[in-house]
Amino acid sequence: ISKIAVLTSGGDAPGMNPCIRAVVRTGIYHNLQVVGIRQGYQGLIDNNMYDMTTRSVSNILNLGGTILKTARCIPFKSDEGMEIAYKHLKEHGIDGLVVIGGDGTFTGALRFSRKFPDISVIGVPGTIDNDLYGSTYTLGFDTATNTVIEAIDKIRDTADAHDRLFFIEVMGRDSGAIALRAGISCGAEAILLPERATAIDNLIENLKAGQFNKKSSSIVIVAEGDKTGGAYELAEAVRNEIKFYDVKVTILGHLQRGGSPSAFDRILGSRLGYAAVNALIKGETQKMVGLEANHIKLTGLEEALNQHQFKLEEDLMEMSEILSI
Ligand code: ATP
Repeated sequence: ISKIAVLTSGGDAPGMNPCIRAVVRTGIYHNLQVVGIRQGYQGLIDNNMYDMTTRSVSNILNLGGTILKTARCIPFKSDEGMEIAYKHLKEHGIDGLVVIGGDGTFTGALRFSRKFPDISVIGVPGTIDNDLYGSTYTLGFDTATNTVIEAIDKIRDTADAHDRLFFIEVMGRDSGAIALRAGISCGAEAILLPERATAIDNLIENLKAGQFNKKSSSIVIVAEGDKTGGAYELAEAVRNEIKFYDVKVTILGHLQRGGSPSAFDRILGSRLGYAAVNALIKGETQKMVGLEANHIKLTGLEEALNQHQFKLEEDLMEMSEILSI
């Protein structure tokens, strides 16, 4: 390996910048040339890349988003798109690639690397959803959860002052990871997750019990992908049944993706970026670097994608219900 490239792809996640910084500086430390590719796989197709130096990544540890920009790139899904990407990489003499993103990004990386095995590829799990196999935590999840907690604490103040019931929708189309942890951290009265079915009757019973227990406010956290319906539908369904609370809805939306990465995500990003370059130097390819039991672990991209069904911790789910009585 003599020249490596780094890109961020799919949804942006806080912690991507510390990871880019680690890739660049670890590469340069090992006398590799490092190229930054803008806008994910789109930058490979458009030949939108630039040489990076240790100074290209100064003062970015604290920045949310990604200095390389990210994109969802349809042309890369076609053989022709991949061939153009390969041609550009070869023209630049690049023989190693670090891709930071989620499962879509890894799917593309694995296909590409099978087609063109002379370019080694290592994936870094970067997604706020925390839903990848092979790493207990993904980049951005901790920061996003903290952002959600900060917002819900503020909503709790007004909910309490007015005896309100809030349905708060948080990100997570397939994964309730943010909802579950934020719910435990904020003492939500109920947490609705894509991973488990919630009967509306039970939800109403629980909320009535809360009123009986003299709770002055109620917060229900709804993950985007919850099968019961979105926060608005749920609010509508319980409004007629629950007269003692004024029912409100807040959709937190994209603010969950932004913000300065937490200490945890800065360190995780640094560790994973550092490990990704070391893996390339050792001759690894088609692998993902992850953190398991506080140790760096390499998992085959194929295995990571096949085992994709991420399970939420049963004990957290059980505990959250008991602690909200
Ligand atoms: P997030 O979890 O935040 O959504 P992601 O990496 O899963 O991140 P996607 O939009 O699914 O985000 O994928 C990112 C990019 O990966 C796509 O825009 C596309 O360029 C590439 N990609 C996804 N699937 C494939 C595929 N089957 N073949 C080639 N490239 C793919």
